[in-house]
Amino acid sequence: MPMNSQPDNDDFMDFVEDDAAPKAEPLRKWRVAIIDDDEAVHESTRFALRDVQVFDCPIELLHFSSAEEARRHVDAFRDVAVAFVDVVMETPDAGLRLVRDLREAGLGDMRIVLRTGQPGYAPELSVVSKYEIDDYRTKSELTQTRLITVLTSCIRAYNQICMINRSRVGLEMIVDSSTTLFRRTNLELFSWGVLTQIAALLQVSPRGFVCVNSQAGDLLESRIVNAAGRFSDLLGKSCREIPDALALDLLRKASSSERAVIEDGFFALRVSSPPDSELIALVETEGPLADTELALLELFSSNIAIAFDNLSLVERLDQLAFTDPHVNAPNLNAFDAALRQRIQAADKGFRLALVEIEAYHEILADYGIPVSQRFLRSVYGALSEASHPPMVARIGDGIFALLGDEANIRRDAITAAFETPFEVEEAEIVARPKSVIMDVDEKPASAVGVMCDAMSALTYAKQSRREACVHFDADMRREVGRRSRLQAALKQAVKHGDGLGVVVQPKVNLLTDECVGVEALLRWRHEDEQISPSEFVPLAEAIGLTQPLTDFVIGSVGEWYAKQNVNEAFSVAINLSMEDLNHPGFARRLLRQVKLAGLRPEAVEFEVTEGIAMKNRPVVVRQVGILRDAGHRISLDDFGTGYSSLSQFDHLPIDVLKIDRSFVNTLSTVSAKRSIAAVVLNMAEALNVQCVAEGIETEEQKQALLFLGCETGQGFLMGRPQPMSDFAIGAAGHSASLH
Ligand code: C2E
Ligand code: MG
Ligand code: MG
Repeated sequence: MPMNSQPDNDDFMDFVEDDAAPKAEPLRKWRVAIIDDDEAVHESTRFALRDVQVFDCPIELLHFSSAEEARRHVDAFRDVAVAFVDVVMETPDAGLRLVRDLREAGLGDMRIVLRTGQPGYAPELSVVSKYEIDDYRTKSELTQTRLITVLTSCIRAYNQICMINRSRVGLEMIVDSSTTLFRRTNLELFSWGVLTQIAALLQVSPRGFVCVNSQAGDLLESRIVNAAGRFSDLLGKSCREIPDALALDLLRKASSSERAVIEDGFFALRVSSPPDSELIALVETEGPLADTELALLELFSSNIAIAFDNLSLVERLDQLAFTDPHVNAPNLNAFDAALRQRIQAADKGFRLALVEIEAYHEILADYGIPVSQRFLRSVYGALSEASHPPMVARIGDGIFALLGDEANIRRDAITAAFETPFEVEEAEIVARPKSVIMDVDEKPASAVGVMCDAMSALTYAKQSRREACVHFDADMRREVGRRSRLQAALKQAVKHGDGLGVVVQPKVNLLTDECVGVEALLRWRHEDEQISPSEFVPLAEAIGLTQPLTDFVIGSVGEWYAKQNVNEAFSVAINLSMEDLNHPGFARRLLRQVKLAGLRPEAVEFEVTEGIAMKNRPVVVRQVGILRDAGHRISLDDFGTGYSSLSQFDHLPIDVLKIDRSFVNTLSTVSAKRSIAAVVLNMAEALNVQCVAEGIETEEQKQALLFLGCETGQGFLMGRPQPMSDFAIGAAGHSASLH
């Protein structure tokens, strides 16, 4: 407004009532400072403004009789809307200096009107603009009407400036709060942020609560996730327990409203995150809200809606990351987190169990995925029921892990959980679990270490064919420790060939003592200890190391065989691992290795254990068939120990049955006829396959076998396994020269 153009009396009324007039801030009075050394001015101003209201609010006057006095009370100017400053006081420019000081003291919002007794003291224009002087009047000019007009105009400007400033601060707050809210992925932290930010925008202390309804269910069941002020006691409760009827009523209104609801001294805001989460914040206000506050709250609401969506998304991702969606149970991540927490808080020991449904893949193959998943859900339920351990998680295909303590992880309870078959739809599934229970007494170094121990214990329990649920004690721990050390060493041995060697044991014609072939047996020396193949072969199987071991044997046999002078009937038997035969490409690869080693197929016989007859899987049968078709003879090793049924042999392409040592060392000439060896020999005859007796240690055993018609044998009696370099076959290849 130009400095000297003020509205006259009539204009003034329009001016006050026009649309642009600011709405009064609630519970306000306008503070107006009069700084003048002329007492009469104070008096006349007081008189002129008595009972005057501007924008519906009264005026409060502050009086200062000198620039110095005003300067001393600079703090009193904080809420002053307008100051009328006399230019000439202690000095001719005392008023101007005061204005400069007040502005420099940070009083930027306050409007200033300069007054002077004589026209000659008008300030320079540069001063007017630098110190934001709103008006300049001679004292005589300021009649009551003009005074009120000037005052109203200044209050309007002041109010607008305040509003703009408040918006700016509020916007800064919203920007800040949005970034902090976005960072808060935890619902409690987030809701506290919402509560405090709303309170800050309303310029009140946080008094209210935030509730969350995560399943879009009954509003009264919503959980109060944060509360402050007189509502603090509600924390953790459901909305049903809110004692304040007004608050509850407003909550209901807010839950069905798209916009914030402001009523009865409350501000309530609802934000939702599709599909099924909603958050309602309710904060107590102090009196009615100003437009600025409402506008800011509106803006803030849209921001928290986005942040809440973000939070819900993070929580959903969290849920996905920590839940097995098929079984609806905690998964490996969840278990790992719980285990870490337990270790960190390890004030006392804890107990952990792993339960593996053996042959889960067979259940999958037999019943299909949906039934198998429902079956796992039942297993999860049964394990959770069994003494209620704090954490049951599905950590692998058919593997569950339990975390708790002695009281809630019990062997009998785990075993009992599987006693009756699981009825899933029409199917009755018998679960064969293998479990280990492990006590962790001392604070372990890491969760990874604990899980490694537990998994090795489970592998050990499965391989050592112990009872269904084993307690992992100190002895077992030592054994498992040895296993993992040996496995690590075996990997190195396979890589560099360290300590590996092959020995051969003759197979002899029992009638003529002629050596008809040898069996190649692998040897491994590790740290001055001769490790038995019965120990290291299963270890190698467990970590998929058998193929390179077989390659090593074939390579060694090839080198040795090339130096021998043997006839065509002489063959070398090489043992194969059950595990390898389960791999579809194994046989073809093996044939290539044999060829690479320079060996004819007729010179190499493969020994497979009786287990393959038991499993009799099509893939195994096919592999064996490929080897046989290529010209290799196939022996069924350790026959009689693997519980095969006769019908299974029909499918197996085999040439030789090797009678297991356990049936040979009980043989005597007297009892020969009634022995299992006799049955096996009869069976071999019926199946038209050759029979070889293993482990012949005495002359009597040999005679008994001859009596039963067994012509080929192997055992310490005829020759122990010995290094290849010590073993040479006679020039004609008919008889072995045994050193
Ligand atoms: P196997 O194939 O049944 O081999 C015969 C085992 O009986 C050998 O034990 C041999 O030393 C032993 N033996 C032979 N005659 C007698 C006897 O008169 N009395 C007694 N008490 N024992 C006798 P070894 O070498 O300790 O091998 C044990 C098992 O380890 C083998 O049983 C075979 O299943 C496996 N194995 C050995 N070498 C290899 C290999 O290169 N690859 C695979 N996959 N397995 C192998
Ligand atoms: Mg063998
Ligand atoms: Mg054998």
